[in-house]
Amino acid sequence: MTQRPLPSTTARQRLIDWYHEHHRALPWRETRDPYRILVSEIMLQQTQAERVVPKYHEFLARFPTLAALADAPAGEVIRAWSGLGYNRRALNLQRACRVVAEEYGGVMPSDPGVLAKLPGIGPYTAGAVACFAFEADVGFVDTNIRRVIHRVVAGPELPEPAMTEREVIEVARELVPAGQGYVWNQALMELGATVCRTRMAECARCPLERDCRARPLVQLVLATMPRSVAKKPERFESSNRYYRGRIVAALRESPDGVSLRDLGLALKPDFDDADADWVIGHVVGLVRDGLAVRGVATSAGAREDSPAYDAGESELDELIRLPD
Ligand code: SF4
Repeated sequence: MTQRPLPSTTARQRLIDWYHEHHRALPWRETRDPYRILVSEIMLQQTQAERVVPKYHEFLARFPTLAALADAPAGEVIRAWSGLGYNRRALNLQRACRVVAEEYGGVMPSDPGVLAKLPGIGPYTAGAVACFAFEADVGFVDTNIRRVIHRVVAGPELPEPAMTEREVIEVARELVPAGQGYVWNQALMELGATVCRTRMAECARCPLERDCRARPLVQLVLATMPRSVAKKPERFESSNRYYRGRIVAALRESPDGVSLRDLGLALKPDFDDADADWVIGHVVGLVRDGLAVRGVATSAGAREDSPAYDAGESELDELIRLPD
């Protein structure tokens, strides 16, 4: 149990009241279907809510149930994930649904400890599904919840956090008001997403203003926060993720597969045989992650599965495609 003073019951109720009045209408807040909640939580990892909304509707129109997603060819799931990036999330979502279909009779477990054992599901997603689908009184931490808890309980998180991750999780668990886990966690996340943001804290309209340890300092800290605090991002166009995304996009367009040479040319207009290792390196990573499969172009033009990049002079003729 933390030694830090925590917001009172009255303060917590104030945040809940604020949520009821001000929260954004988001489609995953209108359901308790565990499959739909899981889809939304996986989509919301690394992608903003506004961008997720149309993809969420499209994806559920294509795969309306856990069984439909579990039974679909992986390539179709990767195609339906188009526009969301981080394609591995799509495969992990499907793998989790397949385990639920095969080992739990298609019924999503409600215990966060069991959920956390499903493929690609970490402690945050497990807590979120238990809470938002089954209304369990559990505490968990994402970036928004972490920031709000840190500021309210320990002051600004900059220049150095005053709380360890373990302590933030402990506080998140202690703060959940009995019987109100759903609305409490939604409220913390909503406050972090719309009012108490990374670079801007709108304390004057915050329901926790009177109870927040960061309140006297946060504006000064954020105003003087050097831009260089944030690690200079790698130029996206030169990043591994960029090329992986481009390759998967090319494969989505070509159900019969694309040769390594054509993939190379799609990525780099001046691609030539000397770049073979470079394009193969990207493809190997995708194959390892289950996002692509390899085959070879035979003399008759048909494709056979191929276990290794050992085709010698013709290696760039090898066809790559999405998994079945
Ligand atoms: S008072 Fe300011 S710093 Fe504290 S939680 Fe509210 S917005 Fe964040």
